[in-house]
Amino acid sequence: MSSIIQVLPDHVANQIAAGEVVQRPASVIKELMENAVDAKATDIKVILKDAGKTLIQIVDNGVGMSVTDARLCFERHATSKIRFAEDLFQLNTKGFRGEALASIAAIAHVDLKTKTTFDELGTHIIIEGSKVIQQEPCVTATGTVFSVKNLFYNIPARRNFLKSDAVELKHVIDEFQRVALAHPAIDFTLIHQGNDVYRLPAATLRQRINGIWGGKSNEKYVPVQESTDWLSIEGFVGKPEFSKRTRGEQFFFVNHRFIKSGYLHHAVMAAFEGLLKEGFHPSYFIYLEINPELIDVNIHPTKTEIKFEDEHAIYSILRACIKHSLGQFQIQPPLDFERDATMDLPYDYQRKELKSPEIEVDAFFNPFEKSESKGAYNHSFSKAKSAAWESLYLPSNDDFALPTEASTLQIEQDWSTGSLFELPNKEQGSQHKFFQIQRKYIVCTIKSGLVILDQQRAHQRVIYDKLVSQLQQHRGHSQQLLFPLVLEFDASQCAILAGFASELHIMGFQLTFLDAHSIQVDGIPTELKEGLVPSVLDQIIQDYEHKSQDFSDEVGYFLAKSLCKSMAIKRGSVLTELEMQSLFDALFASEDAQMSPFFKKTYITLGLEELDKKFDL
Ligand code: ADP
Ligand code: MG
Repeated sequence: MSSIIQVLPDHVANQIAAGEVVQRPASVIKELMENAVDAKATDIKVILKDAGKTLIQIVDNGVGMSVTDARLCFERHATSKIRFAEDLFQLNTKGFRGEALASIAAIAHVDLKTKTTFDELGTHIIIEGSKVIQQEPCVTATGTVFSVKNLFYNIPARRNFLKSDAVELKHVIDEFQRVALAHPAIDFTLIHQGNDVYRLPAATLRQRINGIWGGKSNEKYVPVQESTDWLSIEGFVGKPEFSKRTRGEQFFFVNHRFIKSGYLHHAVMAAFEGLLKEGFHPSYFIYLEINPELIDVNIHPTKTEIKFEDEHAIYSILRACIKHSLGQFQIQPPLDFERDATMDLPYDYQRKELKSPEIEVDAFFNPFEKSESKGAYNHSFSKAKSAAWESLYLPSNDDFALPTEASTLQIEQDWSTGSLFELPNKEQGSQHKFFQIQRKYIVCTIKSGLVILDQQRAHQRVIYDKLVSQLQQHRGHSQQLLFPLVLEFDASQCAILAGFASELHIMGFQLTFLDAHSIQVDGIPTELKEGLVPSVLDQIIQDYEHKSQDFSDEVGYFLAKSLCKSMAIKRGSVLTELEMQSLFDALFASEDAQMSPFFKKTYITLGLEELDKKFDL
C-alpha cells in the first residue's frame, strides 16, 4: 500500500489553527492591540468598518519591524518574545505563541506597513490566505499599521457565523476596554465608521475608568491597595449603593493582562457580604501584580484563564484588603440588611504568616500544546450539576423535607453508590429497575413515583452537554481508529468541514484534509460508533447547507447540536439495562435535564399523588 500520510501545507494548517485564535473581529483586535502594547507603543488607534468584518486597522507608534521581521512575523511559531522554554516562566509580554499573525493572515487580506527608528524606509507587505502577494519598501512613520480586510473571506462556513454589526461591535468594545484598562498610560482611540467611539488619552487608572464610563469616580469607587513581598493589589471597587442589577464592570488584571476567575470573583463577593441587595452586583477593577514565575499563563491561546501557584493565599489577601477598604471608607451596611459581624473584625491578615508559593517545573512542558483550558464556551455551564435530579428525589412538600445539609449528604451518598432507585426492588432481588416501552421510552421507579424518559431526546441532552463541556475546557476525548477511514466529499462540502476543523478537533474528531475532496479520519469522539462517522459528518454539512439550524449560535454550539442529533440513540433501539441506567444517571447529572437541546421534553414524572388520585385514594 502506498503511504497516505502527508504533512499539511502551511496555509491549510494555519487556516485550521486560525479557528482556535480567531473567532470573530474582536479576537483580531485583541491580538493586534496586544502586539502593539508589546511593541512599546504609547499611542494605539483602532479603526473599524462594519464592526471589523470589512476592515480592522491598528496603527501603533511602537518599535516597528525590520524587513526580515516583517516577513517572518507571519510564520507560525515566529515570535520575538520567547527563545527558551524557561522564558515562559518570566513572561512580561502579552503574546508569546507566535500564532496570531500566522492565523490572521490565513483567513483575511492583510496589509502591513512597518518601520523601525533605525531604518529610513519601511516595509510594505500584502498577504492573502497565507500567500505573500507583494513586498516592497515604503515611506511610513516609525511603528506599525496592520490592516486586516475581509475576515474569513476564504472560509464562508465561518463568515456566516458572524453576528450583526451591533453584536460584533459589542464584542470589540469588550476587548478594547480590557486592553485600555490594562494600560492607562497608553493613548487609545477607537473609531467605527468614521466616528469616535473612544478617545482615551494617557491617564491615571481613575481617569481611564472615567474616560470609558464617564461620571464622577470619586463618588462611585473606593481604592483598594495592598502589597506583600510576592503580591501587590491595586484598583477600585464600586460602593455598594452604585451596584447594579447586571454584572457589568467587573475586571481582574494580572500583570496587566485581563483574566477571568470565578474563584477571585468569589473573594470579592465575600468581601461585599452583607453590603449588597439581593441580585445586585458591584463594579470592580482589580490589578494584581505577581512574579510571573508564580503563574502559568500558558493554558489557552486566548489566555483569559491563568493558574496561580497559590490561589488560596491570593483569595484571602484580596478579600481582606477589599473589606478593609470598604471599612476604611466607612461604608455601612444599608439599614435594611443584616450587619455582617465579620466586618467588625480588625484587619489582621498581616499578622498571619504568608508562605511564598512553591513552584514545580515540568520538564515535559510544551508551550504550544493546547490543553486544560477554557475558551469561548464557558458561560452558563458552571453551576453545580445537582439541581435537576435532586428535586426528583426530595419530597416537594416542605413538611417532609429533611434539613438541607442532611439531605444533600444523603443524596451524595446515594449518588456515588448508585443506589438512587427504589430500594424495595433491590431488596426483593429484582434485576429490573428499568423498563423500555416500545423501544422508545424508559420507565424507572423513583422514591416519589415514576420517571419516563424519551430515550432519544435524553441522549441528545447528554451528548450535547458533553460536547459543550469539552469545548469549554478545550479538551476532547477521542478514540483512535485501528484503520483510518478515508471519506470522499464535494470540494465545497470538504471546505465546510475544514472551516469547523478546530472545533471538531476539540470534540474528538481527528481529521486530516488530504486534498480538496478527501478527508482521512484517524480518531472519533468516544461515544460515536465508527460506522456512523460518514452520516454524522454528512449531517453537519446538511445542517449547514440547508440552514436547518439558524446561525445565531456560536460555531461550537451549532456543531454540538448537529452532532447530538446524529449521534444520539434513536427511537426503536433496544437498550440493555446497563445502557438505560447510565443514560438515566447521565441525564440527571445535567442541569438542563428536563429539556433536549432542541427545547423538547426529555422526561415526565408520574408522582405518587397523581397515582393515588387516579385510584381515588
Ligand atoms: P506573538 O505575539 O505571540 O509573539 P504574533 O503572531 O502576534 O506572535 O506576532 C509575531 C511577532 O511579530 C511578534 O513576536 C513581534 O516580534 C512581531 N510583531 C507583531 N506585531 C507587532 C507590532 N505591532 N510592532 C512590532 N512588532 C510586532
Ligand atoms: Mg501576539
